[in-house]
Order: sequence, then structure tokens, then C-alpha cells
Amino acid sequence: MSEARPVPKERERAARRRPQPRQAAASHGVIEDSPTFCVAPFTTLSLYPTGLVTFCCKNPTVLGSYRDTSLEELWSSPRLKQIRQSSLRGERHPSCVHCWRLEDQGAVASWRQNLNTRLAQIVPEVLAAARPDGTVAAMPRYVEVSMSNLCNLRCRMCSPELSTSLGKLWEEAAGPGEHREKPVLLQRPFDRLESFIDDLKAIGPSLEEIFFFGGEPLLDKNLLAVVDALDPWKSRIAASLNTNLTRLSSSGIATLERLQQFRSFNVSVSIDGHRKLNEYIRVGVDSGIVERHARRLAAMFPQLKLCATISPQALNILHWADTITYISRMFEPEYLSTSLVLNPAHMSVRSLPQPLKQLAARRMRRFNDDVLPTLGVNHNLGSAHIRAIGEDAIRFMEEEGDSDREWGRFCRYITAMDARTGQSILDVVPEFRDHWMPD
Ligand code: SF4
Repeated sequence: MSEARPVPKERERAARRRPQPRQAAASHGVIEDSPTFCVAPFTTLSLYPTGLVTFCCKNPTVLGSYRDTSLEELWSSPRLKQIRQSSLRGERHPSCVHCWRLEDQGAVASWRQNLNTRLAQIVPEVLAAARPDGTVAAMPRYVEVSMSNLCNLRCRMCSPELSTSLGKLWEEAAGPGEHREKPVLLQRPFDRLESFIDDLKAIGPSLEEIFFFGGEPLLDKNLLAVVDALDPWKSRIAASLNTNLTRLSSSGIATLERLQQFRSFNVSVSIDGHRKLNEYIRVGVDSGIVERHARRLAAMFPQLKLCATISPQALNILHWADTITYISRMFEPEYLSTSLVLNPAHMSVRSLPQPLKQLAARRMRRFNDDVLPTLGVNHNLGSAHIRAIGEDAIRFMEEEGDSDREWGRFCRYITAMDARTGQSILDVVPEFRDHWMPD
């Protein structure tokens, strides 16, 4: 074990300095409904298995690598400082184009607007800690950590960066130049667990939320130690974890028991289709096991908020209605979130040929109007929310894209994968039959 690294004085001070909201707002003169202010660059760091660190899932900016740069330096990296400065000055930083586009269209709230609303009560404190040079006199409040890319599944829209199991299949199925990265083996964002734990403890006093993702975090042998390191602050930290819920080992259960003692705790299960479609997309899933595990968790942890995450993509958008119905009936989630597949581009809903896009949109709107109101979804989940995320997916699908080229790539990739997994896309999505281009 290494010696614990001392907490830098500035870090200690910053963590303790919690200004009163009213003073803070007045000192910056930034109004709550600023058209550019975003809370994300002032609050969040996300660590990926490759070591790369980002701060917002909608912003592609990479701040650097945790392998060679400390969390403190990344938090004050020139790129992040520049984005914060733009945000405060009323300028639209180009890297936030995802949000600007949605805001210009005006049909749905952007990620920025949703975040600012959700975190409205901390905005004054955040502003008070922000300095004109783009540094922040506080450490991140929200940290997202991928423990590793260790995963037992081979989801078709995933990459080896996020699943160790996918490597060989992915390499064989992808044609030359069809993918961004080379297959990789096991990766963790840190070289030494002890150093990572020291860093996490250093930001423990300012931490309010932590989110664990993977790979499959419940398979990772280090997760329990990381969770235990946060024990002194657990009554202040909201914890959440994303899982495929295919394995519940004794160490996984022990981790969940610890997480249950945090201020709040939710588990989000990734589901990408109705029973059969989910098994097709998430290669290696047994839906019966996932359903059993969900019931077991609900029985073991009555306080647990069970949520579901769906990744809208070319493979499931035509079966949105069945997928939502399955998820809401089988898992009764407290909340449903979506993570639109953007990369690889050929897996995105935009790669579908026009007639299939139109069919998907018609079905989704019919579902929203005719079925959703009668579905009896969990009252926390809310049919308005499901309608909104469906509309978001339709809007994204209908935006311009190079669907001719991407559809060809999609067909080749899925055909090559099917040949190796012994499955057939046309069994689960027969609507593709008239458009299929396997060569
Ligand atoms: S404006 Fe949007 S893209 Fe930019 S940091 Fe905020 S949420 Fe992310």
C-alpha cells in the first residue's frame, strides 16, 4: 500500500468554502436563465476506462488522461477553463453544439437546460466558486467513474473500449476502416488503485454524487474498495450505478449493501429491447435472469430506486413501443433514461433508410397517442416523460445524415456479427427484409 497523499491546502479550503447562495448570485450578476451558463463544466468529471477524462456526456471535449495528469490538474485544464469562461461571458462555446442546436430548434429542452433546472439550488454556490480565469475554487461535486471495461456481454452497438468480451467479435465483424479504435484488452482509468482511492478521498468532502459505470461495474473486483473509501462522506453522497444485471455475485451484493447506506442510491439497468430483441442486441443476455435479478434486488433493497436505460439505435427504434411496454411492465422502473447511440455512426437511428425512419416515427407517434395513456406506467416514471424521450429520438432520427453509406455499413457489420453469433437480424426485425444489403 502506498502512503496516503496529503490533501493540498487549497483543495481543503475549497471544499469547506460554501458561500451563501444570495451573496454568490449577486457577486456574479449572472441570471438563472442565462442563455449560455451551464452547470456541467463547474461541477462534473467523468473517467473512462482508457483514462480519458471528460466533463459532460454531450460535449466531446477530452480534458486529458488521468494516467498522466492528476484530477486536480484536469479540473483546471486550459480546455475546461475556456469552456467555463465562455459559459460565464454569455458566449456559446462551439464544443456545446449539441445543446445549441436543440435550443435553436426550441422543441425540446437541451441537456444544459435540464441540468440547470435539476441543479438550480446549487447554481449560486457554483457561481460564487467560479473565478474570471475559468478556475473554480472547489473540487468537482459530481464524479462519474468507469471502473474498467471488464464486461461479460458483447452488445452490438458497443466497442472494445467499453467491453473486454466484444474484442474478438468486433475485430472479425468490422471491415477495414469501419471503426474508430483498435480492439483493446482490459483497461482501467487508473494504473494504481491506491492512488485513485487517495485522489477520491481528497475530493470526498466536496462530493455530492458519484456514478459508477463500466464495462460491467458489478464484475469489477475494485469496486467494493472504492465504495468503502467514500464511507466517511456516505451520508452526503448520492450514489448510482449502471449495470447489465446479468451477474449478482456475493461481492456485487456486498457492494450494493454498502451503497444502500449512501444518501440515496439507484441502480440503472440497461435494456435495449423487448425480451427477444434485448437478447439479440445485448449478445450474452438471458432476459429471464435479468428479470429475476431485478426482482431479487427489489426484495433485498426496499429503498433502492431501480431505473432503466435504453440506447435508441437502428436495431431497436422500430420496436420502441414493445420495448417501452416490456420495460415498464417487467421492471416498473422509477425512471427511464435514454442514451442515443451516436458512434459508431452506422448503429445510429440516422443510418436507417428513409421508409424505415418514416415507419418508426409513425409507430412511435401512434404509441404515444393511443397506447401510452393506457399503459398504466409507474406513476413516478410518467407517460409525459416517455412521450418526450420518444419525440427526442424521432427528431434526432429525422435530422440529416449520410444514411446511404451508413446503412450499407450497418448491414455488413450486422451480417458479419450474425454469422459469428448464430443469430439473424431478420428474425427479430423483419421490417429490414426489403431493405437489407448484406454485401
Ligand atoms: S452546454 Fe450542453 S454540451 Fe455544453 S457542457 Fe453544458 S450540457 Fe454539456
